[in-house]
Amino acid sequence: MMWRSTLMAVLLLKASLVPGVSLAVPTAVFTRAAPPAGAIAIVGASVVNVEDGSVIPNAVVLIEGDRIKAVGPASTVNLPADVHKIRMDGKWLVPGLLNMHTHFGLKLPGPAGAALENETEMQLVLRMAENARQSLYAGVTTVRLVGEEHGSDFALKAAIDNGTALGPRIQTAGEIIATTGGHGFLEADGVAELSKAVRTQIKNGATWIKVAISGGISDSHGSIAASTMTHDEMKTVIEVAHRNGAKVTAHNGSPVAADEALELGIDCFEHAYHLTEKQLRTMKARGAWLVPTAVVTDEGAMEFFRKIGSPPWYLERVKSTRVDHLKMLQTAVKLGVNIALGTDQFPFEPNAGTTATVREAELYVTAGMTPLQALQAATLKPATMLEMDKEVGSLKPGHYADIIAVNANPAQDIAALRTLNFVMKGGQVVRHDQPLP
Ligand SMILES: [Zn+2]
Repeated sequence: MMWRSTLMAVLLLKASLVPGVSLAVPTAVFTRAAPPAGAIAIVGASVVNVEDGSVIPNAVVLIEGDRIKAVGPASTVNLPADVHKIRMDGKWLVPGLLNMHTHFGLKLPGPAGAALENETEMQLVLRMAENARQSLYAGVTTVRLVGEEHGSDFALKAAIDNGTALGPRIQTAGEIIATTGGHGFLEADGVAELSKAVRTQIKNGATWIKVAISGGISDSHGSIAASTMTHDEMKTVIEVAHRNGAKVTAHNGSPVAADEALELGIDCFEHAYHLTEKQLRTMKARGAWLVPTAVVTDEGAMEFFRKIGSPPWYLERVKSTRVDHLKMLQTAVKLGVNIALGTDQFPFEPNAGTTATVREAELYVTAGMTPLQALQAATLKPATMLEMDKEVGSLKPGHYADIIAVNANPAQDIAALRTLNFVMKGGQVVRHDQPLP
């Protein structure tokens, strides 16, 4: 294992140049697909059960291969003789976070986006791989991609799955489908073209279909509230996806389009800036999902939009949407609509002194969730939405060992997620900040 100790040495050398501070960067990066040989036990930490908020103090999490073998009080878990122990005294363990609205290839209006205008497909996928890596370091171990281009997402997912790239587990929707002039990359009109567009994404590996049924916040033309699809077109997208086992989520800012989509059995809405209480009640009754992306219109994002040089018209659009967005979210929380965390910014994007992912969870508490509910929206709920709740989203035997550590109990105070200092994905430590000697 020469390569590993060499890498460690290089990173420790770098760290030694910054005396007296704890590492803000990972101390070790393992890009192998295969989990480490032998069992690992994380000992000394408190484990948070995200289902009910209960805590196991002085817990042991026993990991074999890429899965959790046992979780319990130290006195109840038998450890194999040759187990490798990771001491985490004083830390709190929660499942790796899930972010359900991500674009690793995100480009927005302004100079930063314009600089990527001539980006080739090869450059795109490398940039996405870097964003995937940063997301994992930020504690996000599973993402749903809801709009990428040129099949870059399928290539990246394959590379992460086989261990040639480091990043979160991915479910993806492929390209955003829209009618001509709509808020999407893949334009298709009418029943035949839309059927083909949906089937093509699924053939390429999409487990979700992302469809734009209204204008978008980053469009320079048209109204966000415009309903752009005919009834037959929307029906086709949803029906063809469902017949092929994929779920459908919509980018939507239109109340009219929302009514129609709910009627037709849509599974999920993104952003949902202008949904009414009546529509939220229908979502609750039908078990439809809401991915709020509250950070996008929150004040904390303004710093980011100014940094990337977003034009004034864009900032105005964001501001004009903020009041409706927060009000909608408060109502959704009050009604108990299924909410899964998503940011529409890079999961690791700096926002209000933390990452967009953590800030998003904090905003759910601002909108009325308890800290435990916000933690569930970042773990258990999205795992359920993805039908991966037997694999990720809670720390249970048989689940992937996707684990993060923080300095306090986030089920009591969600801001504890700001203190993230350890990330494990599938039994591999990808980040472990250590105080310097
Ligand atoms: Zn988006």
